[in-house]
Amino acid sequence: MSSAPELIEQFRPTYVEIDVDAFGRNVEAMQRRLGDTRLVAVVKADAYGHGAIELARRAARSNVPMIAVSLLEEALELRASGMEIPILVLGPMKEEQLRAARENDLRVGVAGPEELAAIAAIGADDFPVHLKLDSGMGRMGVTRGELPDVIRLLRRNPGIRVEAIYTHFANASDPADSFTQRQLDNFREMLDALRVAGIDAPLHHSANSAAGVRGLVSPGDYARVGIALYGAEPLDSGGFHLEPVMRWRTEIARLKTLPPGHGIGYGTTFTTKRESRIATLPVGYADGYSRALSNQADVLVCGRRAPIAGRVSMDLITIDVTDVAGAAVGDEVVLLGSQGSEAITADELASRIGTISYEVFCRVSARVPRVYRADGRISIRSKFFEHFNLSSRSQG
Ligand SMILES: *Cc1c(COP(=O)(O)O)cnc(C)c1O
Repeated sequence: MSSAPELIEQFRPTYVEIDVDAFGRNVEAMQRRLGDTRLVAVVKADAYGHGAIELARRAARSNVPMIAVSLLEEALELRASGMEIPILVLGPMKEEQLRAARENDLRVGVAGPEELAAIAAIGADDFPVHLKLDSGMGRMGVTRGELPDVIRLLRRNPGIRVEAIYTHFANASDPADSFTQRQLDNFREMLDALRVAGIDAPLHHSANSAAGVRGLVSPGDYARVGIALYGAEPLDSGGFHLEPVMRWRTEIARLKTLPPGHGIGYGTTFTTKRESRIATLPVGYADGYSRALSNQADVLVCGRRAPIAGRVSMDLITIDVTDVAGAAVGDEVVLLGSQGSEAITADELASRIGTISYEVFCRVSARVPRVYRADGRISIRSKFFEHFNLSSRSQG
């Protein structure tokens, strides 16, 4: 991490800009929408590719009660950055990892009886867990048939403190699917079965972004919100989104005029139909711009759309700027985000290749520097910083 903005000049002009202020406004907009339900900010997978340290810190400033990640490593990274906020680890862990979780004051989302038994084996006298119930998704969580096992384990191990009981929806992004209501009913029935056995928790949570936006929450619950905070659409039908946070930009590195009938790129999957101006961009699938977007997507140049021409290669992309008058070497090109009055959203890119915005964000690789804007200040994160000679420059 560096606070010197001029350092970015030493890099290839391909980077993502992260609008931390917009993220903060999104957190607060969701908090208002959730009312008495408390927002847990989900920053797993490096905050969906945006940068977990910077965004978790911003979420904490808006007084979220908890941060959720997927991996122990992700939680440890946040702890190492000085964050003392409660952190919930959602993914499954083995005994060694569970020990480390305990030592670092993390909350553990319990995936099933095996994990509960591993926690019991550690024998801590106060181990806070969030017990996950499988209300129908069939992936993580305790099934109805496993409830007796879980009840037995919890009775025998009073050191395991069930701080929360939770579940996860399979299809809350589709309001027409009644399965979400069935999952809620199943969750309530399983909670009742636990209560009859004397087991409950002060907290419950089930909602993700989609369920939160739809109001499928109860006062006092937590809601685990990810995608909405990054400005993408939580609902399949669209129609609700907050401010985009990520903007991915590069510059034209090479511009040439080619005659009609000229092939472009690997496999020559694009052939010019007229005299064409073809621009080459220093970004490719190794940076996380999917090769499936070959000949499928647009980018923005001079505030206009220009199509990808030919295959996306590992390090390069070619675009057709024949219809973008004035496009020149060094001009900014936007792959994701807005330029002028035009915008390319993660949902648009996802829809071109049959995936979801989540994957578009997560694909942006560690090779791409992140430039953070927060409160009028700029800071930069890149895994390559340490290799530059920075002796004459300030480092934060
Ligand atoms: C990722 C995740 C979330 C957040 O989902 P969004 O759709 O991004 O809001 C919530 N809960 C669990 C268990 C998750 O894994």
